[in-house]
Order: sequence, then structure tokens, then C-alpha cells
Amino acid sequence: SALNLELTRTVRSDDRYGSLLWILDKTLTAMGGRLLKNYLVRPLQDKEEIYKRQEIIACLLDNYFIRQDLSDKLKEIYDLARLVGRIGYGNTNGKDLIQLAKSLEVVPAIKELLISTNNPYLVKLGEEMKDLRPVYNLISSSIVENPPLSIKEGGIIKEGYNSTLDELKKASKGGKEWISNLEAIERERTGIKGLKVGFNKVFGFYIEITKSYLPQVKEEFGYERKQTLAAAERFITPELKEKEQLVLGAEDKAIKLEYELFLAIKEEVKKFSEDLQTLGNQIAYLDVLYSLSEVANTYNFIRPTFNDEGIFDVKECRHPVIEKVLGHQGYVPNDVNIDKDHKLLLITGPNMGGKSTYMRQVAILVILAQIGSYVPAKSANLSIVDKIFTRIGASDDLVSGESTFMVEMKEAEYAIREATENSLILFDELGRGTATYDGMALAQAILEYVHNKIKAKTMFSTHYHELTVLDKKLKRLKNVHVSAIEEDGKITFLHKVKNGSVDKSYGIHVASLAGLPKDLIERSRVILRDFEKQNVKENKYTQTSLFDEVVEEQKENKIEKEIKNINPLEMTPIEAINFLYKLKQEMKENK
Ligand code: ADP
Repeated sequence: SALNLELTRTVRSDDRYGSLLWILDKTLTAMGGRLLKNYLVRPLQDKEEIYKRQEIIACLLDNYFIRQDLSDKLKEIYDLARLVGRIGYGNTNGKDLIQLAKSLEVVPAIKELLISTNNPYLVKLGEEMKDLRPVYNLISSSIVENPPLSIKEGGIIKEGYNSTLDELKKASKGGKEWISNLEAIERERTGIKGLKVGFNKVFGFYIEITKSYLPQVKEEFGYERKQTLAAAERFITPELKEKEQLVLGAEDKAIKLEYELFLAIKEEVKKFSEDLQTLGNQIAYLDVLYSLSEVANTYNFIRPTFNDEGIFDVKECRHPVIEKVLGHQGYVPNDVNIDKDHKLLLITGPNMGGKSTYMRQVAILVILAQIGSYVPAKSANLSIVDKIFTRIGASDDLVSGESTFMVEMKEAEYAIREATENSLILFDELGRGTATYDGMALAQAILEYVHNKIKAKTMFSTHYHELTVLDKKLKRLKNVHVSAIEEDGKITFLHKVKNGSVDKSYGIHVASLAGLPKDLIERSRVILRDFEKQNVKENKYTQTSLFDEVVEEQKENKIEKEIKNINPLEMTPIEAINFLYKLKQEMKENK
């Protein structure tokens, strides 16, 4: 699942920081960002499309200036998909249309840029792109640069777009000018210094005269009393009322007309919805490939090749996120070799040795390769996988109420049910969530099942070193281990994956590294020695009976007989658990 590999979010904090997308997403448009996310969760199997994407990335990678130009243009493009949606649903405003026009404005330059490349895919994309000039022209001739959010209060339509609207605006403007000059004119005419012209919503425009000047008001002025205040009187004149009608009427009409014009423009743009949608998809595609080329350049990714022989041959593979966090020096790259004769890698080694990181980086490499991206390695020759199954725990997190073990088993069941020969299965410490022998038995049974029946490419990490002997029995199983060196009771992880198995468990060293008290660590060493002795004396049989070769040497009893009679390869994991449970019950009863 995507969560386990932390493709778009981290498990621990549900954060984008630290996820693969955090490294990978250099997209410049919202549409590109969404498409990249989609690509990551749905890798391709179609080699032709993969090849096409690789070719485009190669071209952008080789042409710094084209890449730079493209990034400058892509930055100008708004979320066309969202804008088209808003236009369709009818909740568009002027700002949306301006964003649309600004986006369309750069399309011709993008087309030209693409056609100027020597890459047939980019040339084709450029030629197929419609620049939608009519939409751009319509909006840029009709909508003002910076329209208000509301579409019902005017101020949206440009001067020169509609003559009726222009006349209404002129009339309203003329009236306003007349009114704003009125104060000076009336002061002059009446000689009253305390005269003001004002406006309120109830009475409209008025002439206001403060109390002390009232005696100077004469009949011949033609003032009609309208309102009496404590400190002043307000008057109107017939001419003032007339101009007021003109201003307010024209304004009302203009606002209504602007609204109608806006709706008509929107309807016209709406006719291009499909074209705009297509353009949005083309831009998103371009943006994703731009982003992948930028990433390839920044992090030194290389172009993978593909084979049909089921081979994975990867040199110096890295985990891009951990590499970025650790810095370039700190990360230890590792090779990956899987082929027909070695389809199942059993990875052993100490906790914290780098097992799950190794598996994750392979999964990420495969996903990147199959979305058409370059990959973090020195070289990579891969075969296409049809599905990737992961059971990778983030060591200690428990997401739901279900026990870790149940989750593990459900994921194992899903993988086993759905995987094919061409799938990639990653099982990290499968069986860890239950008692040792339980877990070991299940791990072995699952390994055998996957090896013999499913035959998928599989990486299986385990700290059950006992399982490493399986390479004698399962001929396509190969042991590898993460190396560590031990000196003076201290352990250093090299994070280097090597062939063969190791037989040491480093649990106590890790506990000591974690800083548990010295005497506690000492005590655990003593207990371990005791366990080992006991194992040799009494318990050897339980320990080794998991492998049927050894069972032959033991004296048979009822339980052994039962074990002999089952075929783990034909059991489901649940049957295996039930069987173990039954055995345990019988052992208790026998005591
Ligand atoms: P395991 O699964 O064996 O317990 P992890 O894969 O969880 O170990 O790795 C433990 C830590 O070791 C990681 O968090 C990482 O910091 C570091 N590590 C793992 N692989 C490498 C590597 N190849 N190079 C550098 N550091 C690594």
C-alpha cells in the first residue's frame, strides 16, 4: 500500500515532509501536482508510454535553457481544471476569468517552445496544444485587470467593451461631477460659508446648513426643507434631485448591465470547457515531466532500462528520501540482483541494519521506473512488475485497533491471493508480531508458498536466522545480509547488503546502543547464555523440528507424527496458525 512506502505522506506524522513526494514534487502547477500523485499510486506497465516519458525527461535534462524557459511559463498557469469546474457550476467571478486569461496568455509561448525542441513527443504535444486565442481575446477585452470578488456590484467590465454600458457610466460620472462642484457654486451664490453638500441613504443628496447660518437662507435660493437636525437643517433643490436621479439610475442600470454582460461572457467561455480541460491535462503532463527532469538533475538520477527476462540488476541503488535527510556522504548505496534463479531474497541481519530501508528503496526504484521517471542508482536494468505488495512496518506504529499481527497476516493473505509471477512482494519481518515459533513457522510456510506456488520476485527480511538454511531446500532462494561489525562489544552498522547469511543476533547490542543501563545489559547477556545452553540440552528439538530434514532424527511421538502428516505448502496462513495452536494444546495435555 502507498502508506507503507510513504509515497505521499509519512506514516508517523501523516506529513508530506519526509515522504517520496517531498523529494519528487517540483511541479509548478496545481494540476501537475495532482497528476504526479496519481502517477505514484498507479505506475505503468506499458513500456511504450514509459519510454516516451523517459525520452521527454532526457530531452529536458539535456536542455537547460528549454527547462528553464518552461519553468518560467508553467509558473504563470493557474489551476485550469478548477477554473473550468467553477465556470461549469456557475460560481465563477471576474478573478477566475482573469486567471484563465493569464494562463492562456503563456500557452502560445509554450507551444512554440515545445515545437522548437528536437524531441518528437514534445513537438507532437506542442502541435496538439490549442492556444484558445478566442477565449483569451474575449476575456482580456472585456474584464478589468483586477475585478472585485462579487459579480453583482459592478466594476468588472472594461471600458470600450459595450457602448451602452459606457454611456451609462458617462452619465453617472457627469452627474457626480456636477454634484461635487455644487458645494462651491452654492457657497458662492448664497454667500453662506457653513454650507455643505452630503449624501445619505434615506434622503439622497442634500444641502446642509448649520444653525448659525440659517437666517441667511432666502426664499429665492429655491431650497426645500427636508430634514431638521439638532445643529443643522438639510435642504434639497429640484435640480439636485434631477441629477441625483440620473446618477443613481444610471449606476443601477450599469450594475445590472455589467452582471448580464459577465454572465454572457461566462457562457461563451463555458463553450470551450472541453478544450480547456484538455489543455489542462496537457499542461499537467508537461509539468510532471518537467518536475521529474528537475528531480533527476538535482539528485543525480539515471535512466533505467528494461528487460523481458525477469531480471533486476541495479547498481548502487539509493533511498532518495533517507539520502536527502542524511546528506550525500552518509548514505550507503546497495546493489540489487534478482533473476530467474534467484527470485527470492532472504535478508537477514541486525535490527537497525538497514533491511527495511533496502526493501523500501527497491520498491521506490521500481515505482519510479514504472512511472517513467529516472531512478536513484548508478545503473538499473529492470523488468516490469504487474503489482507491488508491501508489508513494511514502521517498526513501532500501530494505526488501527487491530493487532499488528492481524494486520500483518491480512496483508500477507492479500499478497498471496493477488500476486503473480510478475509481481514484487516485500515482506519485512513477517511473523514478528507473534510468539517466536509461531512466527518462524509461519514465515517459513509463507516463504515456501511464495517460492513454490507464486514464484513472484520477493524480498523477505527476517531476524529468524534459522530460516537461512532454507536455501538448501528452496532453490530460487538466495540469502543476503546487511553487514555490521562488532568490536569491543559495540556494533557498527555498515548498511551494506552482502551475499550469504549472518548468524548473529544483535538485539542486546542495539539495546546497549539505545542506552539501557549497563547492569541490565550485562544481565541480559547472562540470561542469553542460559537460554542457549537450555536450547542445546532440552529444547533443541522444538527449535529444529521446524525443518523436516531434522525431524527424521528425532524419536517420533504423536506431535511429530502430526507435523509429518501436514503439508505446509498447502496450508493457508490461518490454517497454519490453527495447527500450531492445536499442537500447543496437545503438548499441554500431554504434560
Ligand atoms: P532494519 O529494517 O534492519 O531494522 P532500517 O532499514 O530501519 O533497519 O534502518 C535503520 C536506520 O539505518 C535507518 O533509519 C537509516 O537511518 C539507517 N540506514 C539504513 N540503510 C542505510 C543506508 N543504506 N545508508 C545509510 N543509512 C542507512
